[in-house]
Amino acid sequence: MSELNPCMTCGACCAWFRVSFYWAEGDDAGGIVPSHLTEQVTPFLRCMSGTLHKPCRCVALEGTPGESVRCTIYENRPTPCREFAMSGENGVVNDACNRARAAWGLPPLGETPPLSGLPLNAATAESSRVQLPAD
Ligand code: SF4
Ligand code: SF4
Repeated sequence: MSELNPCMTCGACCAWFRVSFYWAEGDDAGGIVPSHLTEQVTPFLRCMSGTLHKPCRCVALEGTPGESVRCTIYENRPTPCREFAMSGENGVVNDACNRARAAWGLPPLGETPPLSGLPLNAATAESSRVQLPAD
């Protein structure tokens, strides 16, 4: 029996972080991301509209975070969305996922790593590129 992917009832990361990426990912520059759903951040960076400032919510997110959500451009979503792993996926905790979930009052996913002097897992390091939107 298949279980529902927790992301389908979450969407917290799409309504918490600034989703910024190299400008050429836009479909007006040879990429696949619908450019009319993006806004400029710097000359070389653009972000999904709605994620530049707080309150943050990607314009492509449909539904209610914490209940039922859908990415309306899933096949054309930008790189940070493709690389952002759900915490617990392949047994790896993604602290950024759990921080977004906590902001929406949702419980953490994945196992808590044992305390040690080692740095956090690679997924957490990778997600350090994820930024909070500006106030
Ligand atoms: S915050 Fe985590 S669980 Fe929620 S949609 Fe994003 S990746 Fe999925
Ligand atoms: S493009 Fe889709 S996956 Fe990425 S932040 Fe927006 S709704 Fe979420």
